[in-house]
Amino acid sequence: MPGLVPGIHVFKLGHTKDVDGRDKPGHDAESFREERMARVAVVTGGTRGIGAAISKALKAAGYNVAANYAGNDEAAQKFKAETGINVYKWDVSSYDACAAGLKQVEADLGPVEVLVNNAGITRDAMLHRMKPEQWKQVIDTNLGSLFNMCQPLINGMRERKFGRIINISSINGQKGQMGQTNYSAAKAGEIGFTKALAQEGARAGITVNAIAPGYINTEMVQAVPKDVLEKSILPQIPIGRLGEPEEIARCVVFLASDDAGLITGSTISANGGQFFV
Ligand code: NDP
Repeated sequence: MPGLVPGIHVFKLGHTKDVDGRDKPGHDAESFREERMARVAVVTGGTRGIGAAISKALKAAGYNVAANYAGNDEAAQKFKAETGINVYKWDVSSYDACAAGLKQVEADLGPVEVLVNNAGITRDAMLHRMKPEQWKQVIDTNLGSLFNMCQPLINGMRERKFGRIINISSINGQKGQMGQTNYSAAKAGEIGFTKALAQEGARAGITVNAIAPGYINTEMVQAVPKDVLEKSILPQIPIGRLGEPEEIARCVVFLASDDAGLITGSTISANGGQFFV
């Protein structure tokens, strides 16, 4: 349908009457009325960092956004006040919490059609020093959350014959990173999950893709000492700068759109040329 804003779908087209009072299906702005309903998008970890940029970009593209977070109420309330985006607190590492949280979102906003699995944590340590809980927390939050979030939603997407699932992986899942066996394993697992679910969802109009960001200018990276950033990190990035959260958000908006219907099971490497798969 030409002229529609991405993220908006028409669910009913009105007809007008011609001079003789007959029904006249029109094709210009004056001759028919469109009733539009914004698609609902859920962004996990959507109140800070990359997730906040994704939530804002989806809202700007016309989606009705629900931003999930774990426990930082202050940041979430500030985000809500600034953006007007609904925020929902639950732990994505818990299946029951995800199922209940998604039920609440659907009661408030309607069926979820776009899911962005962005929430992630690091608990870095060399393997010989890594505690079992460091392993488990990172696997459960980064990778377990994909099952916990997708499983309660997948039947609805299959029934409606439409879905967009976008998983935020990492360059370190593609190349591995010293001190991050847990994180690299989880992020590589996200890519495998993406490819498998893409095959399952293809006939049902569900696309599943991953984005693997490189170093992004978030609070985490801003905390790195300036000389470490300039001497060790930036020289590894051929474009000579960090990525911005909004650059990841723009990839998400594209993958969520109707225009990206051909793309499924893929991973977009958004890393400034730092690593080629
Ligand atoms: P931040 O630490 O800035 O934000 C993380 C968000 O996830 C917060 O909203 C946080 O909630 C939420 N969160 C964390 N744990 C849970 C949980 N158990 N349940 C629900 N929400 C949770 O992260 P970034 O923006 O840096 O990273 C976002 C994603 O991008 C992650 O998956 C990360 O691995 C990936 N990534 C980041 C890169 C970077 O350079 N920053 C590079 C490559 C990948 P709360 O505010 O309540 O704590």
